Amino acid sequence: MTKLFIEDLDIKGKKVLLRADFNVPLDGDGNISDSTRIEATLPSIQYVLDQGGSLILMSHLGRPHGEPHPELSLAPVATFLSAVLNRPVKLGVNSVGERVREQVEALQPGDVLLLENLRFHRAEEHPEEDPHFAKELASFGDSYIDDAFGCAHRKHSSIYTITQYFPGRAAAGYLLEKEIRFLGETLTHPKRPFFAIMGGAKISTKIGVLKALLQKVDKLLIGGGMAYTFLKAQGLPIGDSLVEEDLAPLAEELLKNHSSQIVLPLDFLTATACSEEAPSKLVTQNQGIPAGYQGLDIGPQTVELFKKTLIEAQTILWNGPLGVYEFDRFAQGTLSIAKFLATLKATTVIGGGDLIAAVHRAGVADKITHISTGGGATLEYLEYGTLPGIEALSEKIHVQ
Ligand code: AMP
Repeated sequence: MTKLFIEDLDIKGKKVLLRADFNVPLDGDGNISDSTRIEATLPSIQYVLDQGGSLILMSHLGRPHGEPHPELSLAPVATFLSAVLNRPVKLGVNSVGERVREQVEALQPGDVLLLENLRFHRAEEHPEEDPHFAKELASFGDSYIDDAFGCAHRKHSSIYTITQYFPGRAAAGYLLEKEIRFLGETLTHPKRPFFAIMGGAKISTKIGVLKALLQKVDKLLIGGGMAYTFLKAQGLPIGDSLVEEDLAPLAEELLKNHSSQIVLPLDFLTATACSEEAPSKLVTQNQGIPAGYQGLDIGPQTVELFKKTLIEAQTILWNGPLGVYEFDRFAQGTLSIAKFLATLKATTVIGGGDLIAAVHRAGVADKITHISTGGGATLEYLEYGTLPGIEALSEKIHVQ
């Protein structure tokens, strides 16, 4: 990587600002229901503390739209961090302001301060409206680490604008570096055959990725809701399945130009409604999906076809579930393919919150080579090969 790395920074006795992605799900009682995102940043946090620095952690949580919302306070994250780091983690009274500055000035090596939810300020998401916000955040630290891969596609104050105040001192943390290494290597030097699996609801949110991947992969296996627009473009009756009529011409063009790469489902689990109880029917491509039914998962013949194809792969990249995996009965295609990937020697890289949940449900998360923590960020990285938050970091050449 050409960007400055956490280990390149001079940390001893310094105050280090670290942008993390602590946007964790909270249950009805305000407790953290999945701490994966916090744990993913612990190596960077621990490194700074071990090097004798003090830490000022920054993150957003939820969508408070520029207003303070007590239920979106980062207090539960401070409590969680205190327990896992075995030291008190103070919560900032705010993310900027004189009282926060006093809290920052009191920090000693080994101390940790977590600033309050950055998005309580509109300027976090709209730096152009108030560039002073990024400048003030920057004034708290001697150097800056970005470990928030999941937000690196955003040109926000704490991700992008802030780095101008750290010339030669804005570095990638361990999590960000790992994401770039795995996704970057997969895209630029994949061991071939390189196959991608794309699922999820719609083509519209993934057009750029589909096009970019078709330039790189040997085969693209398509499942999920997006498959039906492709099948419709081929003239198959798709009943009431999810379809994006306006994208049928694009689907047709992709099928025409990449016919030897694209693999579509052969059969489908359909139902009259998206529920566990609705009457269901397994139908093949030849039969077509009858009116009143919608395709909600890939069928067993497709699972076999995908397995037979994937067995040859050296590299597999997977984004998006192959069915409505939130319902057990429509999760079987996704879970079967997840379990199959776990048996392969190929490098397997998956991304997106739905798939992270699915591989955990299948009990195979530890058998996947790399699970990307980003959703939108992963997709944009796959499309563009970089992200604004990565570009904004210092080049290695500036090492102090
Ligand atoms: P995405 O964010 O585009 O990856 O989409 C994820 C969503 O796609 C999940 O909530 C799935 O329930 C949904 N999905 C997957 N397959 C289908 C399908 N056949 N019909 C409708 N939605 C689907």
